[in-house]
Amino acid sequence: MSNTTVEEKIHDVVIVGSGPAGYTAAIYTARANLKPVLIAGMLTPGGELMNTTEVENFPGFPDGIMGPELMERMQKQAEKFGTEIIFDDAVKMDLESEIKTIELSFGDIVKAKTVILATGSAYRKLGVEGEEEYTGHGVSWCATCDAAFFENKKVTVIGGGDSAMEEALFLTKFTDEIILINRTDNFRASEIMKERVFQSGKISVLTNHSVAKINGKERTTEAGFTVKEVDSITLVNNQTNNNVNMPTDGLFIAIGQDPRTDLVKGQVDLNPDGTINVTRGTSITSIDGVFACGDVIDPHYRQAITAAASGCIAAQDVEHYLLKKNDNK
Ligand code: NDP
Repeated sequence: MSNTTVEEKIHDVVIVGSGPAGYTAAIYTARANLKPVLIAGMLTPGGELMNTTEVENFPGFPDGIMGPELMERMQKQAEKFGTEIIFDDAVKMDLESEIKTIELSFGDIVKAKTVILATGSAYRKLGVEGEEEYTGHGVSWCATCDAAFFENKKVTVIGGGDSAMEEALFLTKFTDEIILINRTDNFRASEIMKERVFQSGKISVLTNHSVAKINGKERTTEAGFTVKEVDSITLVNNQTNNNVNMPTDGLFIAIGQDPRTDLVKGQVDLNPDGTINVTRGTSITSIDGVFACGDVIDPHYRQAITAAASGCIAAQDVEHYLLKKNDNK
């Protein structure tokens, strides 16, 4: 027997995603009295910031704030103004009808006049042993967020695209010992970024090597806490198949990102890079009543603060859309 609950209520707006974009959209739409419903996800609400340790570049927190705490605060702020948060995953969406329908993993169905897609993006993973274990303990996907923890340490950047070049160049502000590793000798990065890396004097480049394993150890801090940390990586030479162990204090993985669009592919228009196509400077997608914000529309900046700003834009677009709809009735 199905446990499907079809809510009779048609909400003004449902937001899918609980990163900075989703929560900001919720705060603004709640304050506009639109009583938003936010589908936060079941196992990993809070988005990528839940995997980050200290966030030192979000304005308003001069002493930094832990990623999970920042997300908890955003959640509280959204709830304070009346957002209904559902800790379940959206598994199916019908966006093309006038009333949008979202099915959740336990079979419940949420209906709304408008949808804000704030599903974010996922950093591509290497898929090697030690990657999950040392995430946040020496393995990072964001130099802007974490480079300061590696001051004067030996760090490794993986990737051959512009992101990897950018990560490596950002790290030069903190350390002179950076190794950039590309799995082939073909770089996807633009010439200008490659040149900057090759000329920096602080970055050595190793080609034709892939990471086979991330190794680490446990250490007791002066305060008596046990912490895990990366101490080396096992590399495989892709030309000889030989393995080599390379000491490193940290690993920045920059091998691309994938916008999370699985549920909306074939409905909203996507860009060639996989992000949702929105009218420039807005959150307006190819479908009437469907808006998108945050990393799922952004192939470039991908910061908590830019995602939050984008969520604010989506909330205002929804508000104007609903006002116009009501005026036309
Ligand atoms: P890209 O897809 O351009 O590059 C990904 C890199 O990671 C490639 O070198 C690829 O190698 C490598 N890679 C992929 N999977 C693996 C793996 N499993 N193991 C090892 N290496 C792997 O992604 P980026 O994130 O670098 O860039 C995305 C877009 O954003 C690009 O259009 C880029 O130009 C743009 N961008 C621009 C910036 C700027 O202009 N300042 C900054 C950052 C991004 P292979 O080539 O062998 O597949």
